[in-house]
Amino acid sequence: MQSSFAGPDFGVPIASSIKRVFVEMNDRDHEKDLDFLRQKRRALLEELHSDEHYENVEAIAFGSHDPFDVPVASCEACGRQRLQPRMSRVKDKPARWVMVCHCERKSKVIRKRPWETVLEWNAINLAGFNYQEMPLFGLSKLSPSDAHKRLTGIRRNLELRKNIIGLERNIGQRTRDTGEMEVPGKTFQERIEAYLGWCLWGLRLTKLAKNNSDQP
Ligand SMILES: [Zn+2]
Repeated sequence: MQSSFAGPDFGVPIASSIKRVFVEMNDRDHEKDLDFLRQKRRALLEELHSDEHYENVEAIAFGSHDPFDVPVASCEACGRQRLQPRMSRVKDKPARWVMVCHCERKSKVIRKRPWETVLEWNAINLAGFNYQEMPLFGLSKLSPSDAHKRLTGIRRNLELRKNIIGLERNIGQRTRDTGEMEVPGKTFQERIEAYLGWCLWGLRLTKLAKNNSDQP
């Protein structure tokens, strides 16, 4: 909601008092919204810092790998390891991307950011990547079910952080004049989103590995 909304312009003497009522109503809504956002943020921060949450996220081993650099899974349709699928621009302004293999297989959803585009491709080629080779989250020595458990905890952690950042950006923009909150940067927000994307990919990979290892 725009805080500058001032109601209709009646253009007669009573207009200013009516206008004031609109402004006051609008300010009240604005304050109520803000309070709601602040409360929500407090609740999420409490969960993020709770003992219970720390126990679930045994080790947040994000490692030093850049989350925007996503390895490309090999194609499940043709299985060509050496000929990697390529990223192709489907729209110039704003830029939109899709992954295309030499066999014509494509990622299903067109994406704005290159790292998301690779994750889209990876999501439909789960057999083309081993979760133990993920350079994030420290999964290399874990069994499929231990890895899945770790990622489940990390997922909650990332979702909490993503939501907190969203709320802080919202509160920060609404209270720019008082400087109540430092607005988290967009790149930081995108990094958390990328980590979450990796984590969801990892959850799919470990689920598949778990199912495969359950089979006799
Ligand atoms: Zn292919």
